[in-house]
Amino acid sequence: MSDLYQLEISQLQKGFADKSFTSVELMRSVIERTESVEGRINAFIDRDIESALQQAEAADERRSKGQSLGPLDGIPVGIKDILAVKDQPLRCASKMLDSYISPYDATCIENLKNSGAIIWGRLNMDEFAMGSSTENSAYGVTANPWNLDCIPGGSSGGSAASVAAGETIVSIGTDTGGSIRQPAALCGVVGMKPTYGLISRYGLVAFASSLDQVGPFSRTVKDSALLLESLVSHDPKDSTSLKREKESYSQVLDSPLRKLTLGIPKEFFSEGLDPEVKEIVTSAIEWYRTQGHSIVEISLPHSELCVPVYYIIATAEASSNLARFDGVRYSHRSKEAENMLELFSNSRGEGFGAEVKRRIMLGTYVLSSGYYDAYYLRAQKVRSLIRGDFEQAFDQVDAILTPTTPTPAFNRGEKSDDPLSMYLSDIFTISVNLAGLPALSVPVGFTKNQLPVGMQVIGRAFGEADILGIAHAFERSHSYYQMRPSL
Ligand code: GLN
Repeated sequence: MSDLYQLEISQLQKGFADKSFTSVELMRSVIERTESVEGRINAFIDRDIESALQQAEAADERRSKGQSLGPLDGIPVGIKDILAVKDQPLRCASKMLDSYISPYDATCIENLKNSGAIIWGRLNMDEFAMGSSTENSAYGVTANPWNLDCIPGGSSGGSAASVAAGETIVSIGTDTGGSIRQPAALCGVVGMKPTYGLISRYGLVAFASSLDQVGPFSRTVKDSALLLESLVSHDPKDSTSLKREKESYSQVLDSPLRKLTLGIPKEFFSEGLDPEVKEIVTSAIEWYRTQGHSIVEISLPHSELCVPVYYIIATAEASSNLARFDGVRYSHRSKEAENMLELFSNSRGEGFGAEVKRRIMLGTYVLSSGYYDAYYLRAQKVRSLIRGDFEQAFDQVDAILTPTTPTPAFNRGEKSDDPLSMYLSDIFTISVNLAGLPALSVPVGFTKNQLPVGMQVIGRAFGEADILGIAHAFERSHSYYQMRPSL
């Protein structure tokens, strides 16, 4: 019973149904596991154990009355510290919000609660989701469960590490330029960024509003599909939320994958790609060929402009979104201020960390009069070209396969003093956000040093079912999803 934390959702639901165990027993197993490994991982900023057990009890009670709410009922879901959960702290891993308590639920949290999910803890991240290693947190660094000296990726490092380490069954994170897919790849789990507009952003603290999306983390593709089904809804409170028919992503996985044309962008396999990552991803692609899918080389010619364009658009939006943290409306307020201006600048100076300040300065600069046309406007034009590259590619192929990251997990401290090299770790994930497309990362192998490698599957807008199907087929024909870090 003690290793219930290892199971996937379908196994847990079966166990609940045939009364082999209860949701309270599952939650106890998850808590016990967390207590034993969290000292080494630091995936959580907060955990409310009492509340988690109460939620589990409520799920058991529903089930005993035949009122189960569906596949997520009684399943713990870890929450990135950037999503509002009523009456819980919401800090974005920043000193700026150190005593802030959320007065309401984000829409995606409301959806999870309506599915009976147990809202489990606040997961560590880079401050305000800015970073690729979870080193920019005011609450300490999170370790990679596969090698404690390595970073777990970021910004949703706590979401990925907690799933990999068995401290939760599944979790949610957010992805603005790769923050779900990159940590998923580096921690050996599945992570998905859905199509822009599919999941409401209401109650998600905004970093770059035209790029941010919420999405699932799990140890199997099917669990991500189940979580996605609960997260998706049309929400009038988010003006970019789209009205779509509800899809059953998990059911699609039960039927065999149809024969597909898969595109391999040549720009993603050139210089700067770690040779081991290249070999592992290339052999995963070869596996699809052996299954009868056709593999074609494609070109996404504006790929090299993605990182600079992203760091103009994302920082511009961040500088405007983060203007609200002024020492007046939210938690941190400087005690050292003689007048209003000093109150603003001291509160911001004390509350924000170095990377957040760097982004605000960059973003303010590219939006300032005189530079707006040269940077921001131009970046928007290039963004259209990048989107166009994908449109052309999808005339030819059903999905695109790439490495998720250029290297496996790197050592703590290795890039923290070199922002440019840190920014380059998102080189393969950023274009997907700029184009608003869905993409996921699925584990496809391990390096000689036992570090996981992820493959990115990119789909057409609303092609979630396709990319889940593609990843699921690989997963079930290999055993990587059963590998666990020794902790
Ligand atoms: N690592 C990228 C950044 O620092 C992406 C972050 C994200 O997706 N939230 O901006």
